[in-house]
Amino acid sequence: MEIIQLGNDLLRQKSLPVMEITDEIKQLVAGMFAAMDAANGVGLAAPQVGVLKRLFVITLADKERRVFINPAILETSLETECGEEGCLSIRGVYHDVARPKHIKVQALGTDGRPFTLEASGALARAIQHEHDHLEGILYIDHLDEAARKETVDQFVRREERRLAKRAQKNAKAARIAAKQGYRIVEPVEAGVGAGERTR
Ligand SMILES: [Zn+2]
Repeated sequence: MEIIQLGNDLLRQKSLPVMEITDEIKQLVAGMFAAMDAANGVGLAAPQVGVLKRLFVITLADKERRVFINPAILETSLETECGEEGCLSIRGVYHDVARPKHIKVQALGTDGRPFTLEASGALARAIQHEHDHLEGILYIDHLDEAARKETVDQFVRREERRLAKRAQKNAKAARIAAKQGYRIVEPVEAGVGAGERTR
C-alpha cells in the first residue's frame, strides 16, 4: 500500500462516507495500520493511500490502535495550541500548526458502533489533522503564505534529492550487472526505471 505524496490530486479531493463496514473496509484499515507503522507515522487517512473514503487510523505513543469511520468533529475549544506537525504525504518536513486544544469527536469503530470521544493534546491534534485529509485539506493550508512556501520548497528539494539518489543507485546496479554480463529486467526500486539497460 503506497502513501501518495503532495502534488497528487487525490489529496485535494473530498472523501465519501463509508456506507457499510465490509470485509474490504476492514482489510483497508489493516493495510493502513501496516503502511503507517512502516512509515513510522502516528496517523493515516484513507485518501493518503488513494481511497476516497471517510476513515482514518491513529496510533500514538500509548500504542492504542484507534480507528475513526465517518468521523464528525462536534465541538472545538476556543483555546488553541501550537504544536509541530508532519504528514506522511509531505514526508520529511515539519512545521508548527495552531489548532483548537480540546475537541469532541464522534465516529464509528470497525464494529460499526458509534462512539464519542473528548480529546486534547496529541490526540486532539492528530484527529484534526486526519479529519482535514477527508476534506482535502493539508496541514500546510493552516500556515501563513511564507511558512507554507518554505515547507513546500523544503519538501520539493528533499524529493528531488531522493529521486537523484535513487537514479544513482539504479545506474550503479546497471553498471555492475553489465560487468557481470547480465541485464537488469526489474528496476531496483519500483516506480523508477533502472537507468541504462545494457546488453
Ligand atoms: Zn497528513
